[in-house]
Amino acid sequence: MNNSHQVVILGSGCAGNTAAIYSARANLRPLILEGHEPGGQLSITTEVENFPGFPEGINGPMLVEHMKQQAIRFGATYQHARVKHADLSKRPFKLELEQGESVHTSILIIATGASARWLNLPNEQKLIGHGVSSCATCDGFFFRDKKIMVIGGGDSAMEEANFLSRFGSEVAIVHRSEHFRASRIMLDRAQRNPKIKFLTNTVVEDVFDIEKGHVTGVKLRNVRTHEVYDREVDGFFVAIGHIPNTKPFAAQLDLDPDGYIISHGGARTNIAGVFHAGDVQDRVYRQAVTASGAGCMAAIEAERFLEAEGH
Ligand code: NDP
Repeated sequence: MNNSHQVVILGSGCAGNTAAIYSARANLRPLILEGHEPGGQLSITTEVENFPGFPEGINGPMLVEHMKQQAIRFGATYQHARVKHADLSKRPFKLELEQGESVHTSILIIATGASARWLNLPNEQKLIGHGVSSCATCDGFFFRDKKIMVIGGGDSAMEEANFLSRFGSEVAIVHRSEHFRASRIMLDRAQRNPKIKFLTNTVVEDVFDIEKGHVTGVKLRNVRTHEVYDREVDGFFVAIGHIPNTKPFAAQLDLDPDGYIISHGGARTNIAGVFHAGDVQDRVYRQAVTASGAGCMAAIEAERFLEAEGH
């Protein structure tokens, strides 16, 4: 593989794919390093009903696959790879991949998105896929008539709980305080749902499986009364926000305290020639359509940047 490029795009969600379409159509022959989760967050959703142009909705994985095929049609190349370290100190930038090889690029568009945040409970990771999940739309179906728990007090937790109430016999929302970040409308909807119960001022100490290989219960602690007790549960959904995927650039790019890229206007970062797109910078909107818009902006800015340099 040629390891010297004009444009490399990191991430293949809506932001990365749209940046790929635009920079490919600008004849920049971008290389897209797809990352751990090709297709990004849409690849783990089912129906997307709010992406303009699809009055009947469209299947999430299909939508991102269409975007990818559109980019390939104009000359984009996709590689299933992930960056371990990026040297952004001089151009061309050097990207070391997890597989060992290095890639050089004049322009870097970072569209690496954000990943689900976990509680870091002793048994949590080993039970992912065995009752522990961060994606209700992916896994809710497996908990028909089962006891479900959702952790968190934001819009994600309310949305997941409402969705999961279609399947489960009951849904308990566990939140560490009694103040909710969720919007009024989402909270109201959850509070009106007869299947949803709230356990506030409560934290999870652990999730356990009692040698059965799948979740059977949790240990909870009331932070006010300090009471510790067990509760039976089959599905354990963590909805406590996301962590932006910026680790390889941490010491070089301006990041906010939570690790999101700080924008220096438009799609620009603090480093000339490095642009951001999508959830890796946007903690507010986080929509497929805004991520696509951001990918378009990044590609247009990259093209103008190269043009100004006489390319
Ligand atoms: P938020 O950051 O809004 O909420 C995270 C929640 O998780 C908070 O209640 C927080 O508690 C809790 N939390 C964080 N860390 C821990 C921890 N270690 N242990 C226990 N609880 C924890 O994230 P969301 O993913 O809910 O939402 C992110 C953004 O996406 C928001 O802007 C939201 O509006 C938007 N969104 C919109 C939707 C829609 O409109 N349909 C659907 C989903 C999300 P605390 O408050 O105590 O810090």
